[in-house]
Amino acid sequence: KCHNELVRLRGNIRVFCRVRPVSQEELDAAEAKNMVTFDPDDDAILHLSNKGKVMTFELDKVFLPQATQEEVFQEVQSLITSCIDGYNVCIFAYGQTGSGKTYTMEGVPENPGINQRALQLLFSEVSEKAPDWDFHITVSMVEIYNETLRNLLGDNPSEKLDIKMCPDGSGQLYVPGLTEFAVQSVEDINRVFELGHMNRATACTNLNEHSSRSHALLIITVSGFNSSTGHRTSGKLNLVDLAGSERIAKSGAEGSRLREAQCINKSLSALGDVIHALRSKQAHIPFRNSRLTYLLQDSLSGDSKTLMMVQVSPMDTNVSESVCSLKFAQRVR
Ligand code: ADP
Ligand code: MG
Repeated sequence: KCHNELVRLRGNIRVFCRVRPVSQEELDAAEAKNMVTFDPDDDAILHLSNKGKVMTFELDKVFLPQATQEEVFQEVQSLITSCIDGYNVCIFAYGQTGSGKTYTMEGVPENPGINQRALQLLFSEVSEKAPDWDFHITVSMVEIYNETLRNLLGDNPSEKLDIKMCPDGSGQLYVPGLTEFAVQSVEDINRVFELGHMNRATACTNLNEHSSRSHALLIITVSGFNSSTGHRTSGKLNLVDLAGSERIAKSGAEGSRLREAQCINKSLSALGDVIHALRSKQAHIPFRNSRLTYLLQDSLSGDSKTLMMVQVSPMDTNVSESVCSLKFAQRVR
């Protein structure tokens, strides 16, 4: 199969889809129906039956419900290690609440997702480059809620952060006050994740609801120095668990709910617009339309690499949201 060739020709943006399994509760509900089918000969095709019609979507790759965390990780490994060579990389999990975004990025304790596996892989890859190369890996955790940034590893997680342009004229952005922890081991990662979770939970009454309405970013920087040649590299890996993409009924939402919905809508469409503009090589890329795209500007542009993991629920009750998510996938692909 010429899948690699296809990916290369398509440039630096890839769109995968992961369909989560039907849960036990859904199986127990007699009415529940599975609406997704796959093409046994083509792992880039997904069929969704919607109101009696079958819609077909083509992506760069589709993960079946039985795909394991290892299998998913294998497909993203080379993207992750490219930040050792100085590339900036973004991996996004997109989809409605309950479609498996957090499962893919964070995973569950007995079966970790991309975030933990990525750091472990980076540790082992950089250790193989020693002693010629000396690498320094840091992590930051940021939440974007209602278009404001929170420093999840900071001493004061309720403090809001700003995004600023470097005064040196390089066009580089930075976030003054953003906490970066140097990490070297699995124990370090676990400590950092725990702190980030704790801080995310403070000042919100329902963590599940809150996390479905905010974006969670794990930002990993990898900088290397070769003492014999003097070469330096620096790359950044952004792992993003996006807010739920479900459309909130206009009639039902008011006050803070309505504002949340508007902010999510704005940033997810800004993300779609930016990727679409990059893909179609437009002269103007509208990075500044949301905090998310502004913050990630230098990890989305230039020779950066982007992966959009579109998460889909197979259930009939979710089919209209699945259609929306897959349409988003087609737009950015
Ligand atoms: P989201 O973050 O999109 O709201 P979650 O990741 O929390 O969704 O997933 C919803 C539920 O489905 C969770 O209980 C999660 O553990 C489970 N789940 C999601 N994807 C999978 C998967 N691929 N395999 C097993 N369980 C999954
Ligand atoms: Mg989630």
